[in-house]
Amino acid sequence: MSEIKRCKKCGTPLMVSKENTWNGNGVIAQTRDFEHRMIFYESDNIGALFTGIEHILGLPIEKIVVESKRREVKEYVEKMMSAITRKAVKHIGIGMMIDTLSRNGRAFGYGDISMVERRRKNDSDDFITMSVRNPHSILFFCGEVLGAWEAIDGRDHFVSYEEVEPGFYRVTCRVGEHPLELQGRLNFKTYPYKPGDIECERCGTCEVPLSVAKYTWDLEAGTIVHPDTRRRMAIFGPRGMEAILDDLEAELGETIPETVIEAQRLTVRMAMKDMKWIGDDQRYRRMMAFRGLGNIVMMKLGDKSLSVRMENACIDLMSVGMVQALFELMSGTDTSEYDYKISPDGVLDITIS
Ligand SMILES: [Zn+2]
Repeated sequence: MSEIKRCKKCGTPLMVSKENTWNGNGVIAQTRDFEHRMIFYESDNIGALFTGIEHILGLPIEKIVVESKRREVKEYVEKMMSAITRKAVKHIGIGMMIDTLSRNGRAFGYGDISMVERRRKNDSDDFITMSVRNPHSILFFCGEVLGAWEAIDGRDHFVSYEEVEPGFYRVTCRVGEHPLELQGRLNFKTYPYKPGDIECERCGTCEVPLSVAKYTWDLEAGTIVHPDTRRRMAIFGPRGMEAILDDLEAELGETIPETVIEAQRLTVRMAMKDMKWIGDDQRYRRMMAFRGLGNIVMMKLGDKSLSVRMENACIDLMSVGMVQALFELMSGTDTSEYDYKISPDGVLDITIS
């Protein structure tokens, strides 16, 4: 694998700081495609959220998560690479594609990714096996490999994984039908972003916010870890997460939004329980913005309630669960009620009481 270059001043991989822009309106956008949004988010919380949803529902959701991710990644790769480029990659550049996938994954916090074996003789026995140590989410990884591979190969595949040793997985894509065809259509919500004036100190060389640069980027292990809290982060697209939640709702019914909010409330409470909460709205504003979750333009803390208005919101249900958990931690209560409203132009109003 070729070397991943870092900023000489702050150490952030240039793949991260050049390809993503942290804007003053709470949006992290891909520098080359401002429509394509990213988030910088606690990756341990993703797995915990899925486990929490399964626990509340009493149903496995693994197949839906993988299929939803596959669909999103396949569409993304098809959009980024023309059919001609994909054909060329298929015939001459598979190794290059895998190298790019692996380098991207390491810089974005997806774990230590390697190619294990592949067979491609254009018959039904073809397969590709990748390994990953310490993935940000094994289900995301399965969907990502499957989606990217299908976009290049052009045939439908199914994926399986085995945990060879704790935290070390082998993921194999084989030619064949998807075990599940999702009912809903892939439907990304887009709206023009509202401007914002959130300021942050930035690296003088690569311009990444210092609150991002201070993380430890281990490019061998593919991890991004906070030096004090040891919380692990990953950079990924919120649309994929939103698509998964929409697909869960289409497949499993109307109780999914409340299930997601509740699972997220419990996950964030557990993850943040040791943090000290103070009534500093600018701090919460920066906290949401450096994760790319949107711009808090109003935050009102009453005796027994909290109202928050967020512009340019994304992963809305998760944000509701997160704000609810923050309120409970701030006010020292174990339970609360929530109400929320999402407008078509991306404004999320949340009231917790
Ligand atoms: Zn820098």
